[in-house]
Amino acid sequence: MSPFEKFLKQLENVKVIEPTISYDNYVTIDLSDKNPDLNKELLADAEKFEIYIEDYLQKNNALVAFGGYNEVRNLYKRSTIFNGEDFDERNIHIGLDLWTKEGTEVTAALNGNVHSFNFNNSLGDYGPTIILEHLFEEEKFYTLYGHLSLESISNLQIGDEFKKGEKLGTLGNAEVNGGYSPHLHFQIIKNLDQNSGDYPGVCSKNKLDYYLENCPDPNLLLKIN
Ligand SMILES: [Zn+2]
Repeated sequence: MSPFEKFLKQLENVKVIEPTISYDNYVTIDLSDKNPDLNKELLADAEKFEIYIEDYLQKNNALVAFGGYNEVRNLYKRSTIFNGEDFDERNIHIGLDLWTKEGTEVTAALNGNVHSFNFNNSLGDYGPTIILEHLFEEEKFYTLYGHLSLESISNLQIGDEFKKGEKLGTLGNAEVNGGYSPHLHFQIIKNLDQNSGDYPGVCSKNKLDYYLENCPDPNLLLKIN
């Protein structure tokens, strides 16, 4: 484990969606290419996918379905923004997704300031997105919150300060969030390069080592068990 991962691990856990929902009401979900339920038809239709998630939550008596870090997915084939040849196809998810209801409160994972925000408005993209900047031993690192509502970024300014656990925004619906069932994409990023209001949330197999190192498992911080 790297020093940065150790740092994340020793931090007190925090929720990044609605703090009143206990982790007892969370359930893991497999959205990998190994899940036989995820046929083409389901993946192509946000409404059907939303029903699938709702059924899954109900069956598991849960309010939030989570997972997806370092997960190989077929979910991205419907959108051209992820296309590439063979090993260049971006289909490995490197954030953590939390699937729940539209409008659910999203909260800051750590004390920080708004680095940037953007409405990434393509099919399969993040929709409204906020990136917060934080410090680890004099070095900057970042947390990214994707698939938010438009209201989440409508009154935001670069540099705005948020405290750990403070409300940052709310979850958007398929009309604004890139065409997905409502969920938060949460990602930790060490080196943001020149990105602003956006950062890859999926990568190709041949860049996986770099991205896993640059974007450690968000659950080191969230500590959902
Ligand atoms: Zn995601």
